[in-house]
Amino acid sequence: MAQDIRDTVILGTGCAGLTAAIYAARANLKPLVLEGHEPGGQLSITTLVENFPGWPEGIQGPDLIEKMKLQATRFGAEIQMGHLHSVDFSKRPLTLFLGKEPVHTRTLIIASGASARWLGLPSEQALIGHGVSSCATCDGFFFSGKDIAVIGGGDSAMEEALFLTRFATKVSVIHRREQFRSSRIMLDRAMAHDKIKFLTNTAVEEVLDVGKKEVTGLRLRNTVTEDESVLPVSAMFLGIGHIPNAGMFKGLIDLDADGYIKTTDQVHTKVPGVFACGDVQDRRYRQAITAAGSGCMAALEVEKYLEEHGH
Ligand code: NAP
Repeated sequence: MAQDIRDTVILGTGCAGLTAAIYAARANLKPLVLEGHEPGGQLSITTLVENFPGWPEGIQGPDLIEKMKLQATRFGAEIQMGHLHSVDFSKRPLTLFLGKEPVHTRTLIIASGASARWLGLPSEQALIGHGVSSCATCDGFFFSGKDIAVIGGGDSAMEEALFLTRFATKVSVIHRREQFRSSRIMLDRAMAHDKIKFLTNTAVEEVLDVGKKEVTGLRLRNTVTEDESVLPVSAMFLGIGHIPNAGMFKGLIDLDADGYIKTTDQVHTKVPGVFACGDVQDRRYRQAITAAGSGCMAALEVEKYLEEHGH
């Protein structure tokens, strides 16, 4: 029935999804916005965002997301918890399967973002939630007065390390190479901090101690000398990047070798009416503001698509 068909559904409530929601709602498309396992996306587990234009003093990531949500709902976006488990793009309208009832929609904006990458060590996996974490803002507090390790050499690792100095007595940043991927300003800040120490050319071989169900240290390997050592720490935080949340679309739309959605003309997937924006399709910039920008583009393309198809 025509009244059961949505004009657009937006998958994700990060910066990209919520910006798409604001634009789609203001175009009177009454978007349904699906919020998954990581509400608010990466901004909701970050601290101070200093590079989003319009906030000269910076703004806390969760506050920025909350404001975007308010802005989207104010114009009529409907935000609903829901984990999409499959889709049917073979017929029109598109069908999304998430709860008891399938959702039919003319267009879909995939803004499902990216999730934290793990090292993949069995000992790391066994100790997640027992001293191993990918979210400093969520779990840092539990390690007040302890020594902590942060893994990675990009902006995330620097940000986590700086944040964790609030609680830790010492933060060891462990990076597998000599060169850093991080921006100069973040790296300089971390290097200037007296609680932060750097271990470069160093790989984590094992997280100790699975038997005790708590982190007591890391077995490390120097990648140049091959020397092994043990660093006593009470927690290990991962800051080694993210993996795009696009696995469920494999075979339906094109993904690149690392699993990012391939788009043409910025936000078009190969399926008409299906658009992608934000970190799930952007392997290059991955910024809050670029995600927001592509969310806007996706919503404008949805409007254009609906108009061209007589809706
Ligand atoms: P990233 O820039 O891709 O850096 C990931 C880091 O983790 C790299 O140093 C990489 O090492 C290391 N790494 C990856 N896989 C590893 C593994 N299996 N074992 C050990 N190390 C591994 O990711 P990111 O730091 O999450 O940043 C992503 C984007 O978000 C960037 O554009 C960044 O600027 C942005 N960001 C900005 C801010 C901010 O401005 N406040 C904060 C956070 C993130 P290699 O260098 O050897 O590859």
